[in-house]
Amino acid sequence: MNIKALNGFKDILPGEVELWQRLEALARDIFARFNFSEIRLPILEKTDLFARAIGESTDIVEKEMYTFVDKQVTMRPEATASLLRAYIEHGLHVQKPVQRLFTIGPMFRHERPQKGRLRQFHQMDAEVLGSASPRVDAEMMAMGAMLLAELGLSVSLEMNSLGCPVCRPGFRTSLLAFLDDRHQALCDDCKRRSSTNPLRVLDCKNPKCREQVLEAPSLLEHLCADCADHLSGVQEGLEQLGVQYSLNKFMVRGLDYYTRTTFEFITGDLGAQAAVGAGGRYDGLIEQLGGPRVPGIGFALGMERLVLLLQQQEAELAASGVDLLVAGLGEQSSRYGFGLTHALRTGGMRVVMDFEGRSLKSQMKQAGKLGVPYVLILGENELVKGKAVLRNMATQEQQDILLQDEATTVQTLVTLISA
Ligand code: ATP
Ligand code: MG
Repeated sequence: MNIKALNGFKDILPGEVELWQRLEALARDIFARFNFSEIRLPILEKTDLFARAIGESTDIVEKEMYTFVDKQVTMRPEATASLLRAYIEHGLHVQKPVQRLFTIGPMFRHERPQKGRLRQFHQMDAEVLGSASPRVDAEMMAMGAMLLAELGLSVSLEMNSLGCPVCRPGFRTSLLAFLDDRHQALCDDCKRRSSTNPLRVLDCKNPKCREQVLEAPSLLEHLCADCADHLSGVQEGLEQLGVQYSLNKFMVRGLDYYTRTTFEFITGDLGAQAAVGAGGRYDGLIEQLGGPRVPGIGFALGMERLVLLLQQQEAELAASGVDLLVAGLGEQSSRYGFGLTHALRTGGMRVVMDFEGRSLKSQMKQAGKLGVPYVLILGENELVKGKAVLRNMATQEQQDILLQDEATTVQTLVTLISA
């Protein structure tokens, strides 16, 4: 039997997982700075939820969902729809007029696996429900930018406004007229899209289509007064917070629910998979899903792509995180060390000890490899005298430790090592 993981599904092994942990820890720290609370959501939802929230004629719903047809359920392809389902189901708007929530976890899309594109991938997702203030839009982009900057990544921010149900139909009509004249020159996907979802033609990656839409009408010129005001409020906020961005009138996100502000964090370092994160406002969506009439905005960062970037810049991995290696030399010492190790762990320390009876030399070598700051050497002779030796690996200084009752010994070691 030789069973391998599914294509597009990946194990995250020790050595790489430390980067994931660092990424997640920093994200949690930054979400907390902005007063976001965590929400944990199920991975399986009714298929209808995604069809209604994301939109029937999007790539995701048309061809990327993992759906169990007989049960009418789907592995979530993104987090926003599930999060809104939970928000509505539990009446979270009643508890707090403005909810700031984040969630981290796997998403599933049946697309062609390649570098930075998997079938099970992970997102860190943040959503603010209940505020229409353009300051919230600016704050969301600033929060994403802060996380990327603190990771040491240089990523650019692009923004657009997709208008609202008041101004988008007029824009759609003039875009349709424009595309009609160029129908033959478009790729097959766009020929189809121009009737089902014409805005998507604007951000088709096919060079033929790109050339055709260069002169296309811009949403930014069709915004109604309210949407134009909102956009200038967002721009003012971004300027005040010192967030660099550029307006991209061709950016149309691949989900139908967006209104007004949409944005993407873009890198030049991952080839075709240029977007490390994206989001936008969805002011009508909660109501459309049967919830209260409440505006919302959110974004998601793709963790695989962030980890690739961190690996490319050879980010310092977090140290192995071990505080102490206990080296037992001989059976009596190992027996004593086995108990002491457990007592130290109970006392909160991260301790390694192995039971293979290796020489001191090879245990010191292992300590070096792990980057352990201290080694406690338990020799048979010392043990008889009620002593052990604590070695500081950085300074190579050694000191005797008096082995008293276990609690006192633990206390002594904890104090010395955390000093
Ligand atoms: P792309 O244009 O690359 O297909 P998208 O617009 O489909 O991205 P979103 O649905 O907005 O992506 O998801 C937000 C982020 O999640 C993306 O910016 C990306 O970093 C990440 N992401 C999306 N799909 C995948 C995938 N299949 N594998 C890995 N990461 C992904
Ligand atoms: Mg996609």
